[in-house]
Amino acid sequence: MPKSMGGHMGPQPLRDADNLLGLPHLCGADLTKVTLANQLYRAAIVILQLCFVLGCLVSIENPGRSWLWPLLALLVHETQDQPFIQWFSKLEAVYFDACAHGSSRDKRTKLLATSDLFSTLAIDCSGDHKHASWQPFRGEHGVVFPTAMEAEYPPLLCNRMAECVRQSAAHMGVFPSLQPRLKELLNLNLGHQTLRHEPLIPEYATVFQTDAPVQHESHKLLSAPFSQGHHSTEQPEGTQEHKSKRPRKEFKYGVWHTPEQFLTRAEAVVHPMDNESFLHEATKNAIKKVVRTDPLVLAKERLATVFNLRKLTNELKCQELALKDTMHPDVKRVHSVQEHPPFRARPQTAWLLGYGGCFPVEAGNSPGGVASGP
Ligand SMILES: [Zn+2]
Repeated sequence: MPKSMGGHMGPQPLRDADNLLGLPHLCGADLTKVTLANQLYRAAIVILQLCFVLGCLVSIENPGRSWLWPLLALLVHETQDQPFIQWFSKLEAVYFDACAHGSSRDKRTKLLATSDLFSTLAIDCSGDHKHASWQPFRGEHGVVFPTAMEAEYPPLLCNRMAECVRQSAAHMGVFPSLQPRLKELLNLNLGHQTLRHEPLIPEYATVFQTDAPVQHESHKLLSAPFSQGHHSTEQPEGTQEHKSKRPRKEFKYGVWHTPEQFLTRAEAVVHPMDNESFLHEATKNAIKKVVRTDPLVLAKERLATVFNLRKLTNELKCQELALKDTMHPDVKRVHSVQEHPPFRARPQTAWLLGYGGCFPVEAGNSPGGVASGP
């Protein structure tokens, strides 16, 4: 390192091939660093074992020449857990140059991941661009090592990895989707269709992939292969059309609907404000019950339920008094000011709130007669 930057030698190696868990002469901060890192690696092994048991997709990332790789193999071997060691040995090593995925430097990176998960990311530097320097420089807060700047994944790599995970999940029959928020559902019920809702009709009739670019007025280019450079027009794939796993080495096109196709699909669309979807299952059952039951039988059932509720009210009142007697005097005082009816009777059977208007069932109220039929 130049004298202008302090002249020191930069970070010294803390491990070597014979001392994967740390060089013997380490002391002070270096020893602490290595000890803590080793603890972290051991914790990673425990997490890996959990992933193995649960059948998770896994991925470990480190520079291609990192000591982590032989060390990890050593720690896995130490577990003596044969099925786990076997599983670990089948993980796939994927190497790439970070610049092939949007980074400004050609950091040689290795992923050790579930087989086939990140295979499509194995791309080398195309050699047709300049790389940012690895030379340390003086920044606002002292000397900056560009290695640290390379720790953060560039957005392009994030998107590509996310897409790989999405495809692998789809292959396993898992299709992650955002739970619609209550506000959006309410909007939908008011007839306000927004971008957050599933389209009533998918934008494309079909989506297909091909090795060569195609020009057609009914086709729209959705994504191009990685090899087309950083500016390839990658977009998230449609939710419905494309669920099979494919390596992204092809052009992807969406095919517009013909007017006839669109009309046919439009006719089959279920209205998002369909009243049927408003009613809770319990309400629907209550309506069926009220409509199908003889009014006299229904009246008797209701009366019986109300009497049962009143009986329960009296029983619970006694229990409440007994409970209050066991309370601390201060707590008891508060409770005696705020009278708690044993329960605000909520009919467990929704048909009590049936036809012919409101049916008063609050505790202590007189039933006041049975509602008459419609
Ligand atoms: Zn490069």
